[in-house]
Amino acid sequence: MIKDCEQEDEMNLMNSYPCQLKDLSLSCYGCCRNGLSSSSQINSDLEKNNYDFKKYYLDKEKSDENLKSFRDRYGIKDTLSSGVCRNLVDFKDSCVACPLHPFVNLVVSSKKTIAPKQDLRVGFCDTEFECETVKFWCNMELNERKAFIRFLQSKEFDNHNYSMLNISGELIQEFFRRRFEFEDLE
Ligand code: SF4
Ligand code: SF4
Repeated sequence: MIKDCEQEDEMNLMNSYPCQLKDLSLSCYGCCRNGLSSSSQINSDLEKNNYDFKKYYLDKEKSDENLKSFRDRYGIKDTLSSGVCRNLVDFKDSCVACPLHPFVNLVVSSKKTIAPKQDLRVGFCDTEFECETVKFWCNMELNERKAFIRFLQSKEFDNHNYSMLNISGELIQEFFRRRFEFEDLE
């Protein structure tokens, strides 16, 4: 039985991305903002997005059309003063995510948002973008992914620190310098 749980955890790890690590309560928004802003500036702007998300989507029918109304409410591709994208939503419990993403329900309950049938980010941002962390993650074997997770656990990151170090490339560089400390010795 324990073995089954381990196998399930390993399958989950191989199917996950560093962008959203639910078991570690970590969300990355590194590529959903520009420039250097403090955590408090970004959180303040996320509150504005949450207000609009409620107004345009949650208080109405949870339909793709209303998601588009939320996305297009300013009529332009735009960021808030902190540099954070106007579509990024704080779903609470440490989960910050894009409701326009077709797989958003892998990390956010359908009680909070319903994933669109199509990728509504297309035309709004670069949906093909991969930071250095993701590029390396995609080529990692299971044991290396496990070591990376242990490395993250040793850091006790919040979403902001995690995001900034992913987008700068510093996080994965540090992991490669120190990965021997986190390898499985069994
Ligand atoms: S910066 Fe990297 S890890 Fe973070 S959301 Fe973008 S692609 Fe994912
Ligand atoms: S549209 Fe979504 S994925 Fe793209 S930058 Fe904005 S919040 Fe991030």
